[in-house]
Amino acid sequence: EPIIRAQQVEKFYAQPSENRIQVIAPTSLEIFPGEIVALLGPSGSGKSTLLRMLAGLSKPSAGEVLWHGKPVSASQINVSIVFQSFALFPWLTVLENVEAPLKARGIASTTRHKSSLKILDTVGLDGFASAYPKELSGGMRQRVGFARALVVEPEVLFMDEPFSALDVLTAENLRSELLELWQKKTIPTQAIFLVTHNIEEAVLLADRIIVLGRNPGHVRTDFKVNLQHP
Ligand code: ADP
Ligand code: ADP
Repeated sequence: EPIIRAQQVEKFYAQPSENRIQVIAPTSLEIFPGEIVALLGPSGSGKSTLLRMLAGLSKPSAGEVLWHGKPVSASQINVSIVFQSFALFPWLTVLENVEAPLKARGIASTTRHKSSLKILDTVGLDGFASAYPKELSGGMRQRVGFARALVVEPEVLFMDEPFSALDVLTAENLRSELLELWQKKTIPTQAIFLVTHNIEEAVLLADRIIVLGRNPGHVRTDFKVNLQHP
């Protein structure tokens, strides 16, 4: 049973000229519990657009996104997104950043603290709770991003180019740490959907890769590649 099933999902954007631009051609895919799925494609191929539709943040122009067989619009879903740019609140400490989604859900402060400190420990930020984002390196900031995404124990963790803003070595370290934590089942989520333009990253991390290609009609074609588990 998949968690997410996208059925012939399409996205058009209206143009001032009244021409519609098709960003996502009819695409069907499934995301199952326990897997890391990478969505690979060049910049502008529609990866973020597809991610937003799967996460219920943007309505498909045609087709349907189902979560556990029900339309995503009619479902209570628990998801988080990790962004390329970290998107931390600069005026909040590391702990306050990580607590923010729990606070938004009305969780009491004792519980918030406990969950946040635990996940900070998991991502290697033990001892940085009272630091501010500007005092941290890029890699550390993205660790905060991961912690904030994971603190709600999302059913699916969405990541949109999470390593692209980091230098090569930092990205390499974070990727292999993520993989190690995932394989040890320390990451509190059922599935990971990773958007990337980096083929090596997709091959390293993913159980399955979905490729968005580009053709001259602005219509993207979609290929699926099945890889063996490492
Ligand atoms: P990627 O994540 O692969 O870089 P995006 O999904 O961000 O691709 O964008 C795909 C294409 O759709 C781009 O040409 C982008 O400019 C366009 N696009 C994305 N969102 C919108 C929108 N809300 N309105 C109009 N065009 C959009
Ligand atoms: P929905 O389909 O639910 O309306 P969209 O995917 O169209 O959501 O995106 C929401 C908003 O984000 C749009 O109203 C649009 O103005 C803005 N937006 C996002 N990316 C782009 C882009 N690349 N170009 C123009 N507008 C964008």
